[in-house]
Amino acid sequence: MSHTILLIEDNRLNMELASDVLQAGGYTVLEAMTGDEGIRVAAERLPDLVLLDMRLPDLDGLEVLRRLRSELRTAHVPVVALTAHAMKGDEAAARRAGCAGYITKPINTRTFLAEVGQYLTREERKSGHLQP
Ligand code: MN
Repeated sequence: MSHTILLIEDNRLNMELASDVLQAGGYTVLEAMTGDEGIRVAAERLPDLVLLDMRLPDLDGLEVLRRLRSELRTAHVPVVALTAHAMKGDEAAARRAGCAGYITKPINTRTFLAEVGQYLTREERKSGHLQP
């Protein structure tokens, strides 16, 4: 069964690139271009992983993360922050707020699938879904 990944990203080009790479890697991709939409889709579809842009037009990425964490249905869905190279402060703030980690943008298309795969594997080990 293929993993489902929710991409919350307001930049259309970043969205298309990440989405294309993930789909080529066999993932089912859900797309949301605002924080509100992302929160709604996460609760409806319970993705295996959320990739969250920390700079969104409506809600701050940290606020999206807090709301996902505070909602019973989505509290345990792992979230990986997408942060721009220049925004180093975002990474520390994202970790403190409960992100599993971060991937810097622009994404490296040669390593992106491996990075995403690591987070999925790590989370599955933690929750016991994956045999060692
Ligand atoms: Mn953005």
